[in-house]
Amino acid sequence: MKTALITGITGQDGSYLAELLLEKGYKVYGLRRRTSEPIMTNIQHIANDIELVYGDLLDLGSLIEVVRKVQPDEVYNLAAQSFVATSWEQPVLTGQITAIGVTNMLEAVRLVKSDARFYQASSSEMFGKVVETPQRETTPFYPRSPYGVAKVYGHWITVNYRESYDMYACSGILFNHESPRRGLEFVTRKVTNAVARIKLGLQNELRMGNLDAKRDWGFAGDYVQAMWLMLQQEQPDDYVISTGETHAVRELLEVAFGYVGLNYEDYVVVDPKFVRPAEVDLLLGDCSKAKEKLGWELKVSFEQLIQMMVEEDLKRIRQEVAT
Ligand code: GDP
Repeated sequence: MKTALITGITGQDGSYLAELLLEKGYKVYGLRRRTSEPIMTNIQHIANDIELVYGDLLDLGSLIEVVRKVQPDEVYNLAAQSFVATSWEQPVLTGQITAIGVTNMLEAVRLVKSDARFYQASSSEMFGKVVETPQRETTPFYPRSPYGVAKVYGHWITVNYRESYDMYACSGILFNHESPRRGLEFVTRKVTNAVARIKLGLQNELRMGNLDAKRDWGFAGDYVQAMWLMLQQEQPDDYVISTGETHAVRELLEVAFGYVGLNYEDYVVVDPKFVRPAEVDLLLGDCSKAKEKLGWELKVSFEQLIQMMVEEDLKRIRQEVAT
């Protein structure tokens, strides 16, 4: 039986990855940071199957103790301050967690269990003001937010530990990936949640930022498969994971409102509060390396993804209203 340690287990990706690893027969440990209120929504259904261990990416000693206790075969570093807009409000904290936190986790692995395989959650936000389209593993980075800058550090420190210490460390450059478990502040979930509330008569307006930004949006459940595949190869490497399709925020609105028979133009108001100091205008990933070398496949299309998210939000809100 293999053992995996997942940081960020309570988040969207952590919960899907934990499910996948449990299905594969892994013993799954999740790193948890102390909070006064437990944030267990995404992992409630598997709470009895996983073991939570307490530590913090900012506290190297705690990570060393966790790695010593867990003795993981695989470490998936998914924890981060992951919301781009917040990274302008808390740039230092974002750097501490999203950048230096990666070094702390790598150090704990290097010092205690250097043969463990390490996955770093890198991000298409590193491409930022894109230098070429589509973006691939060799595309130079040009981050456009404190978050993007921190992720570039996390990417390179992972590559550096691989090259310095011969560790099996991989960086997965994942384009935006969404699901019904996505945080409500991210644009897809903000929209599908609002569509459901509007449809059920609980809200009559949706305030949004830049509707012209384009993203390559995939389904998080498909993307965690790629994370696992990266750690099962003979050699560690870095891979872009994407759908190869790009859609504007405006199209996301059309599809989501259209699914419940509404026209987004009747409800959406552009509010400068949601416009960012610097924007990433266009992301479009070329994942041919992952398809070829990992045999990774995409199962859920953009339309299916938005439909799944609207349906889940409708179901959840109906239940909340009924109780
Ligand atoms: P990101 O790509 O990691 O920043 O993911 P987000 O889901 O937060 O944002 C995706 C894109 O949607 C960005 O270009 C945002 O500027 C744009 N966007 C437009 N309106 C909104 C909004 O109201 N909330 C969020 N989160 N993003 C918005």
